[in-house]
Amino acid sequence: MTDVLDRSLAVCQQHGGTRVTKITLKIGVMSGIAASYVQSFFDVLSKGTAAEGAEIVIEDDPAVFTCRKCGERTEYAALSPEYVCAHCGSAALHLEGGYGLQIINVGIL
Ligand SMILES: [Zn+2]
Repeated sequence: MTDVLDRSLAVCQQHGGTRVTKITLKIGVMSGIAASYVQSFFDVLSKGTAAEGAEIVIEDDPAVFTCRKCGERTEYAALSPEYVCAHCGSAALHLEGGYGLQIINVGIL
């Protein structure tokens, strides 16, 4: 999250803004980041910076798996107790996406 703050402040500076008002993040369902804590965590981190008070908007990034057996892709929009290929039922999956945190947009004033 300090990375999100640093990058938002950099965007603000590059564009001659004075404040960061809104940050849109894409958070992978497999990232282990609890979306409900992101705003309060950010509020603490951003205190005293140009991003203080910025609204955090979160988009879920589904987990994307590729099957090692049949090669098909399966998406899980939420955490699941087990992950299997939707096409052949195999549990031999490779996680391709949905484990990271991406900044989609930074709103500045
Ligand atoms: Zn499969």
